[in-house]
Amino acid sequence: MEFSILADSFNKMESTRKRLELTQFLVELFEKTPQEVISKIVYLLQGKLRPDFEGIELGVAEKLAIRAISKSSGIPTKKIEEEYRKSGDLGHAASTILKQKTQTTFLVEDITVERVYETLFKIAKLEGSRSQDMKMKYISSLLNDANPLEASYILKILLGTLRLGIAENTVMDALAIAFSGNKDNRKILEHAYNVSSDLGKVAETIVTKGLEGIEKFGIILFNPIRPMLADRVKSEEEAIEKMGSEFASEYKLDGERVQLHVEGEKVVLFSRSLEKITNYYPDIIEKIPKSIQADNVILEAEAVAINENTGEFLPFQELMHRRRKYKIEKAVTQYPITVNFFDILYCNGKSCLELNYNDRREKLEKIVKENDFAKHIPMTIVKNQNDIENFLENSINAGSEGLMLKMLDKPYQAGSRGSYWLKLKREYQNELGDSLDLVVIGGFFGKGRRTGSYGTLLLATYDEDKDTFTSICKVGTGFSDESLDQLYQILHPKVTIKKNPRIDSEMEADVWFEPELVIEVVASEITLSPIHKAVRDKIRKNAGLALRFPKFTGKIRFEKAAEDASTNEEVITLFKGQKKIAHGKNLI
Ligand code: AMP
Repeated sequence: MEFSILADSFNKMESTRKRLELTQFLVELFEKTPQEVISKIVYLLQGKLRPDFEGIELGVAEKLAIRAISKSSGIPTKKIEEEYRKSGDLGHAASTILKQKTQTTFLVEDITVERVYETLFKIAKLEGSRSQDMKMKYISSLLNDANPLEASYILKILLGTLRLGIAENTVMDALAIAFSGNKDNRKILEHAYNVSSDLGKVAETIVTKGLEGIEKFGIILFNPIRPMLADRVKSEEEAIEKMGSEFASEYKLDGERVQLHVEGEKVVLFSRSLEKITNYYPDIIEKIPKSIQADNVILEAEAVAINENTGEFLPFQELMHRRRKYKIEKAVTQYPITVNFFDILYCNGKSCLELNYNDRREKLEKIVKENDFAKHIPMTIVKNQNDIENFLENSINAGSEGLMLKMLDKPYQAGSRGSYWLKLKREYQNELGDSLDLVVIGGFFGKGRRTGSYGTLLLATYDEDKDTFTSICKVGTGFSDESLDQLYQILHPKVTIKKNPRIDSEMEADVWFEPELVIEVVASEITLSPIHKAVRDKIRKNAGLALRFPKFTGKIRFEKAAEDASTNEEVITLFKGQKKIAHGKNLI
């Protein structure tokens, strides 16, 4: 399949954010796609080469890409960098540059989807000292034969900046229309996707085996299942209202969600976002098989750091010490954990998803033998508000963050946030005493799992005197996968080539946005800052104020205009208030 067909589709898709139009473009593309490349097309559409859980990352740095463009065009790197600065997108810059190409080359080989995919795959697999040179060779060989539009998309995929804004659901809509003639069949595709987390495989199955093949699609051991999520409730009353007269209540432990796939001694672990995390938990790999009384299973658990002396649960941050590549063995002894099982999704070759909660819990207790390391998450059946309050108190005293409430007669709904599970958390302690509503002025591209979204945002307060938006912090925590997607959809159309003159920021962002969107943030304190522009020179000469440990609360303040955001006056009040509290506690 010619790569130009894909590049033309990318180009059309980039020009719209409307879901119906995107779906139509996808259907047209799929109809032109031969069977054997459909899965590759589906991965490439999302800027990937394989499903996320395989962990294949392209990891090409901008510098290297610039050198490759220079090599294949004969244009100096300085000029390419200049063009890049102007457009803010290396793909676009490359296409502009290649239109002025000084070196003529003979088109030696056609650019096909297969060739691009295979070359990208080789690049992703390269390791070691000579890998940079080899990568450059591969990239420039593709660019040599590519037209400017094709080159721009090859680069975007390589750099992880292809952001077509196509949600998985849109791909499934288009697959259903193109290959079954009916959009409603999306639901069947969704089930296949939820149990395999591999959209390419789902596409390939519908193309080669039709809907019947999709209907037979089952769980595959060692392919992660998309997790079931919970809705939030604010109070015990609300929980009773939603859950009825009798339901399960489990501790909500503050650790890392782990999906364990076990067969004999082989154990593979996936995180909540389905990344492979096996390497961080050598203790799980060693100890868990001894606790399992089945040939093969898929289980869900919360891995929690503990105080070995008291058995008390420790906060999530303690676990993050394990996020290191080297000396993991040392971290394992320094930061011990327990594995607290709460669900069973597959057992002895059969799915357990359709079983109701009661049956799954019973099976789980039978299959997993408890010991010092492997536990069943504490659970009790509750019937009224008093029961919940009591259990919540116990759970908080044990160091957990609240309760998970689960309906007894319901199945496991892979990949969906529904009302069968609810979470009741202790209120988030906001040390500043108040949240701030801040304007999103800039963004930084996400890496790893956050590729294709803005992983970090630059935020600003409103300066009423000057009618400007002054930078106050970067925020990169508090985002769920859904909120990252949603923010990307909202912010992408607000990208500007030049910084809006009302933005006052010394800090450089990867992209600038029209200052329009307001989001809610909490933080631990306000500190003096040499770089941020909020309240500049008012408290101290050459210093502004910044938020320390800011965290997105999950609330997008759609109802607020940028000028309704927190003002510098309010920030001064908060800053002074915080000093008073500190004095009161004799901290200063
Ligand atoms: P949240 O991240 O606040 O949406 O809460 C959901 C997370 O709570 C899950 O992804 C799990 O990591 C965690 N969790 C802790 N205890 C449980 C439990 N008993 N059942 C399900 N999830 C739990």
